[in-house]
Formats: sequence, structure tokens, C-alpha cells
Amino acid sequence: MIIDIINKKRLGKILSKSELECAFNGYLKGEVLDYQMSALLMAICIKGMTDKEIFDLTDIFIKSGEVLDFSDIDGVKVDKHSTGGVGDKTTMIIAPIVSSLGVKVVKMSGRGLGFTGGTIDKLESIPGFRTDLNDDEIKNQVKEIGMVVTGQTKDLVPMDKMIYALRDVTGTTESIPLIATSIMSKKIASGADKILIDIKVGKGALLKTYKDAKKLSSLMIKIGKAYNREVRTMLTDMNNPLGTSIGNSLEVEEAINVLRGIENNALTDLCIDLSTEMVSMGLNISKNEAKGMVIDSIRSGIAYNKFLEFVKRQGGNLEKIKICSKKIEIKSNKKGIIKGVDALAMGKLSVKLGAGRESKEDIINPGVGIVLNKLVGDKVKRNDVLCTIYVEKDINLDDVSNYFKIV
Ligand code: URA
Repeated sequence: MIIDIINKKRLGKILSKSELECAFNGYLKGEVLDYQMSALLMAICIKGMTDKEIFDLTDIFIKSGEVLDFSDIDGVKVDKHSTGGVGDKTTMIIAPIVSSLGVKVVKMSGRGLGFTGGTIDKLESIPGFRTDLNDDEIKNQVKEIGMVVTGQTKDLVPMDKMIYALRDVTGTTESIPLIATSIMSKKIASGADKILIDIKVGKGALLKTYKDAKKLSSLMIKIGKAYNREVRTMLTDMNNPLGTSIGNSLEVEEAINVLRGIENNALTDLCIDLSTEMVSMGLNISKNEAKGMVIDSIRSGIAYNKFLEFVKRQGGNLEKIKICSKKIEIKSNKKGIIKGVDALAMGKLSVKLGAGRESKEDIINPGVGIVLNKLVGDKVKRNDVLCTIYVEKDINLDDVSNYFKIV
């Protein structure tokens, strides 16, 4: 039976809801095996799905677990999700900004997928930080401090947990139907009223073209409508890594620098834009007004204080964050101006260093990663340090200076 379903999709035919249920619910129960689901996912990747199949699959995902209900918490609850990029640490910055302005943030995040990092892996690099809050803990925390960022609860879309982990290691991450289903099922089940999706586009993103990103955007808005949720999307560039750091502990440090107003680059600008959209949605005010409030929250330190409150509340100890002490400096072999930094190559390098997973069972090393000493637009001389790589042990590297386009 599962073989017939795999073959049907391989031939590009449309699967009925009962066939999708048979395959996906069967996988959840252990009746369909990893290699069979991998084959079906690959067929979906190659042949695609109709809107009806995507809606049906999203529904099957949502119904695989519980749906959270925050209606007893006053105010609009806003959520945000990124389709994933290299160096994307925006959640750790945006959630405290938005919450410090009185908009409740309920955010369930994921782990790294393929060469892209994940917020949960980043937050877990803070010793003691808990990402396994249960429903009551989530509700109490939102009521008391106005924000929570945690992993999906055990019962929230368990189907996505299994499929996501399998996609990560089977080359099936870059599929619009599977991305839409994965993200929207989690967003609907996590109970927020309004949802902002940051769709990353470019070399270091799951989606490489604006055409694909627009397709995903309209699908997500349609799925949101079907479940009575306001969904806004932003299409943002991911050709170059976001900010200066790639790697879990390093990215937490960078997030702190942005919140303290110490770092100011494309990452800061993007965080301001995303927060503006969320505050405008949450408080029902113009984007102009929201933007002024967002900038003030960083300047005045209230956003950073909210971050400290949030980390403490979830058990994290920022003083104990560890970054590997062994460093390799990558120097430029020519002079010129940096026109680009290959985000995909940097993302793959970070996985090789141990900041991400190559197989489902891999344990990541929070202290490894890359810091860009030069960013797009910077002038460089021969022998200037382009980036610094933090490693646990000796490692064979390609010529990393080639990841920088210098002209
Ligand atoms: N983020 C998700 O949660 N799922 C995807 O498929 C891609 C990014």
C-alpha cells in the first residue's frame, strides 16, 4: 500500500487525503519505515503538491497532536517564524523587543535544519536554559513576563518533529509544500492570534529565488486564512550570512550586542523591521509609530532587560556560555572590496565544525563557529583577517578565503 502511494507521487499524480493519512499517520505509528517515508518525501520534493494536497497535509500534521489555546491570556498573542538561514539569530532579538512593548510573544522554535541554524540549538548553548517547557509553564510565563521561546511541546505537531528530522538528513528540506506544511501546522497549533513569517531568499536560504518565496508566501497566507489567523510575510535577503556570527554560543553573544546597541549592521536593521511589523500587528498601529517604539526599546535598554528576564526565567546562565578557545584566522590574499560572502558555504562549514548536524543522532558543539571580521562593503588589504574560525580540535579546511568575493 505505501509502495503504491510512493509510486503514485513519483509519477506526479495527486494523492487523496486518505492516502496522505495512510502514509503520514502510518509513519507516526511506526508502520511506515524511515526509508519509505524518505522516498515519499523525495517524490514530493521533485513532483510537488497541489494546494489541496498541501491543505490536507497541514491538517493531518495539526491533528497529529494537541492545539494550544491561549484565549484566557489577555491581549493579542503574536508569533514569528523564519524559514531558516545562516546566522539568523533574529528571534532572540525580536521576541524581547516586541514583548518589552506590551505585545505578548508565544514562540515555539526548532532546531537547525540542513545548513541553516535553529533557535533552540542557539538558546541551549546558554548553560541551564530550558527549551522543554510544558503547556502550563508556557502559559504562566506568557502571563507573567509576556514572552516565551521554547521548543515544540512533546504533543505539538509530533508529526513535524519526525518528518523535520528525516528531511534534515535526506536532502528533502528545499520543498515549498513541505516547508509550508511544516511551518504552518506548528504556527496554527501553537495558538498565536497573528503570525509573521520571515521568508529568507538567496544562496544561504532554503528558497533560492524570489519567485519561489512569493509562492510560499501566498500559500502560507491562504493556510492562515483557512484557520482564521492573520499571517503577514516578509521576503528578506539571505545571500550573505546575517550579522557577524555563525555558530550557537557566538550567535547568542551577537544577539546580546544588538540588544545592547553595541552592534549595528544589516542584522540590526532586519530585527528593527521584523519587530516593527509584529508591534504594528499586535497593537494595531501604523508601522511608522511601531518603528519609533522599537528603536526606543533598544536605546532605552528595556528590550535588553526583557531578554535578561527571559533567559533567567528559563533557567539560563549567560555567564557560563562557552566559546572554543582555539582559533584559526582566515586572511585575505588580495586587496579590494567585499562584494559578497557565500552564505551557503559558510553554513556548510559551520555544520562541518560541529555547529549543526550531519545525521539525526549528531550532538552539536555549542562553542564552535565563525565570526566574520569583514562584511559586505568593507575594504580589505592583503593579509587582513576576513574571518575567525572557532574550533574544538584541528580540522582540515578548504580555502575559506574563497568564500569571500573580493573585487
Ligand atoms: N522551518 C520549519 O519549521 N520547517 C521547514 O520546513 C523549514 C523551516
